[in-house]
Amino acid sequence: MTTVVGRLAPSPTGLLHVGNARSLLLAWLAVRHAGGRIHLRVEDLLPDGDVHLPALLADLAWLGLPCDPWQGQAFIRQSERAALYDALLAGLLTRGEVYPCVCTRKDIDLAARAPHAEDKATAYPGTCRGRFGSEAEALAFERQRAAEEGRPALGVALRLVVPDAPVTFTDLLHGPQTVRLPDDSGDIVVRRKDGGVAYMFAVVVDDWAMGVNQVVRGDDLLEVTGQQLAVYAALQRLSASELPAFQGLPSYVHVPLVLGDDGRRLAKRNASLHLGALRETGVPAQRLRAWLVTSLGMSPSEDFASLIDDFAWSRLPRTPVHFGVEQLRQISRTTGGRP
Ligand code: GLU
Repeated sequence: MTTVVGRLAPSPTGLLHVGNARSLLLAWLAVRHAGGRIHLRVEDLLPDGDVHLPALLADLAWLGLPCDPWQGQAFIRQSERAALYDALLAGLLTRGEVYPCVCTRKDIDLAARAPHAEDKATAYPGTCRGRFGSEAEALAFERQRAAEEGRPALGVALRLVVPDAPVTFTDLLHGPQTVRLPDDSGDIVVRRKDGGVAYMFAVVVDDWAMGVNQVVRGDDLLEVTGQQLAVYAALQRLSASELPAFQGLPSYVHVPLVLGDDGRRLAKRNASLHLGALRETGVPAQRLRAWLVTSLGMSPSEDFASLIDDFAWSRLPRTPVHFGVEQLRQISRTTGGRP
């Protein structure tokens, strides 16, 4: 039987809130229930992407979700894996799977509006596909244009050619999905103009490299899963020596997010619902865990072994759950029994 391998992949660009905690707990319980392994990967790709790393690690420790080391490391950081991403991008560039792109946001908006007004504004129209013979040529073009426009030259992005054929996958909660990437995203940015690798690429490289076969995350990422499958397909064609043998695509579970009192997804603006804020105001971790576990359709228990045992996908509510002032008041109560 295949061992289930999952990951917790938080970005330390923001502070974890109750909604993030719920998705992380679910991913963790699902793997532990299956007797599998779960690794922690810190997705700190953006410049200053690690400003909240100490807080993130403190939050995870407080929540109590120990992960398994990967290659001897307690957790990995994407910011330390640029050499792998760059080597794979170089291979894809040689194969013509990715190409240099000099388009600005303005170029893309204008091009998208003209002939394909019905397309989503975000779909890249493919302006730079086949336009430059090499990255150096694209860079020279950008430098000349910048000089003409009297601005500093930017770098050159890399985009992955997306397939014309629909991409399909089945999400455990959302069922069968079909995405036509040319209309949805267009060719995908896999390396940004500042030279940093894009989330869409790094997430797939790392899931592949770590042998992740079960992805559990918030359903705001359901709509980009098709793009990630296109990255998988390109990497499979590359058969790169830098990656272990392909083990198959992961299964995907996109979990409904937690909504605040305003009916919108919890986010950075809900500062009082960040785990650090809860901790500082004296909310015991077990009370938050009890709420989270209940919201996952399970009975609260302080005994992790029985929680793991009790876990079942079928219990998971299919609709968003709500966490606001009243829920905060309940878990903050210092007297009384369980919430
Ligand atoms: N790092 C991403 C985030 O925090 C999640 C990545 C993923 O699960 O694919 O939103």
